[in-house]
Amino acid sequence: MDIFSEIDQMQRQASILTRAGKTIGFVPTMGYLHEGHLSLIRRSRAENDITVVSIFVNPIQFGPNEDLDRYPRDIEGDIEKLRALNVDVLFLPSMKEMYPEGYKTYVIVEGLSDKLCGAFRPGHFRGVTTVVLKLFNIVKPTRAYFGLKDFQQTLIIKQMVRDLNMDIQIIACPTIREHDGLAMSSRNKYLTEEERQGAGIVYRALLNAAEKLKEGAGFKEAASTLRETLKSSPHIREIQYASVYDPETLDDLTDVDVKIYKKPEVVLAVALYYGNARLIDNLLVKLR
Ligand code: AMP
Repeated sequence: MDIFSEIDQMQRQASILTRAGKTIGFVPTMGYLHEGHLSLIRRSRAENDITVVSIFVNPIQFGPNEDLDRYPRDIEGDIEKLRALNVDVLFLPSMKEMYPEGYKTYVIVEGLSDKLCGAFRPGHFRGVTTVVLKLFNIVKPTRAYFGLKDFQQTLIIKQMVRDLNMDIQIIACPTIREHDGLAMSSRNKYLTEEERQGAGIVYRALLNAAEKLKEGAGFKEAASTLRETLKSSPHIREIQYASVYDPETLDDLTDVDVKIYKKPEVVLAVALYYGNARLIDNLLVKLR
């Protein structure tokens, strides 16, 4: 596996590969890799000649009071996992390499970026779209792989690629879960043993609400089932959002009559503080 920390090296290698007619699959990450990340990498390996993974904890997507400084890192462990999967290239840039002094350009996908997580993390998605666009220009992928665990992020990246006419296929991949349903996340490391034991409640709450919808309940009732199930957990400190949303616009559907809603699917989505860990999760539900 080649490990490049300079943009120049990565770009040169990407150009050589592209000229040789190779397809490049790309999996951008912030490291501390788990099975969720690895599932994206396996998919990329299966669908492309070359797989590039990046590890970069992107400072501009963290707010001033967020966990940038304590975000979990294990670069040696990550490299071992990537080698075991036969990844071709790891792109591992420094902060200065990505944002040298005088850096001034940012990309914003309007509207979608202000909803759900965006309402609680101002500037977060501006940071995400900016770094992803930069990484795309550096890695020159044919296809890029994103997890549906970060449903809103994937939606925003797809919008950016469409709006800016980028010739890259965005592949959305299913959420990988622990045995009790907890969505895998690097941030699960913040959970104490006891909190970890109870954290399966987040997925159970989503399943309960999905069940209501399948039984023909309205959006309001499903949203309240979601919230009531979450509230039964003593570890949940703050529910930032938990409701039923339009999976294209991310509009809250609580006050919409299910009978006049014409799309085939909704997404149940939550963000909450479980102990000290901010957890997000979601579930797409087919209505008919
Ligand atoms: P992160 O390192 O958290 O920025 O995540 C990098 C990529 O992995 C993103 O596209 C995430 O959506 C994806 N990802 C994170 N957790 C999971 C999971 N449990 N299942 C599937 N994909 C995931």
